[in-house]
Amino acid sequence: MIVLKGVSKSYSSVTAVKNVYLTIPSGCIFGIIGRSGAGKSTLLRMTSLLETPDSGEVYYGDERVDTLRGMALLERRRKMGMIFQNFNLLGSRNAAGNIAYPLEIAGLQRKQIDRRVEELLELVGIGDKGGSRLRELSGGQKQRVAIARALAVNPEVLFCDEATSSLDPQTTRSILALIRELQQTLKITVVLITHQMEVIRQICHEVAVLDEGRIVEEGSVDAIFEAPQAAATREMIRV
Ligand code: ADP
Repeated sequence: MIVLKGVSKSYSSVTAVKNVYLTIPSGCIFGIIGRSGAGKSTLLRMTSLLETPDSGEVYYGDERVDTLRGMALLERRRKMGMIFQNFNLLGSRNAAGNIAYPLEIAGLQRKQIDRRVEELLELVGIGDKGGSRLRELSGGQKQRVAIARALAVNPEVLFCDEATSSLDPQTTRSILALIRELQQTLKITVVLITHQMEVIRQICHEVAVLDEGRIVEEGSVDAIFEAPQAAATREMIRV
């Protein structure tokens, strides 16, 4: 369980996130939705410990983690995977080389790395693409490589930053189906941010709606689609 207690973050004159309280249960797919500029990326960066809040606290289970520094922070971050809208893959490496990267950093032996990379390529449905250059892969295949890389070190949490925003609707559906399948088989927690209600509807169990840095609505996806309360939620469902 990840718990945010009154976290806030400002950049010069802009308050990006204001006093957010949020509980993200383990083993669920939790979506954070909001318009552009609502504060989603800032909230995700604080939740994934890439950034420290100006005030408030972040807990993973019982452990307070926003105060971690140095090796303790690195170790905690090793238990997380992250995927992005623009994939963030290394252009100089092929698909297998990208997936191998975190395993090399973790200091595994070459044989173990090769075995694990094969396994991961199969897991994300591109078993035959290990030797492909990135430019030979479609957007959906690149995101599969990124997912495999994120899962390489067996993370407990997968953070998804607008992971399907640059993909066409059909590819979006297949990537979302893969994330849901992986979440169920690996029993990980998935935290995603998106501006697309379709993404929430397709795979999330719970959702928080962010507007101008504040959570304006939160609950089960079914309940929120059934009876949206906040104006920001109604607006996003209508689009
Ligand atoms: P979203 O992900 O919902 O689009 P962001 O968290 O990126 O929202 O941004 C929220 C607000 O904080 C915006 O007004 C944005 O301009 C501002 N902001 C975010 N990151 C920075 C930064 N590193 N420096 C300055 N302003 C920022």
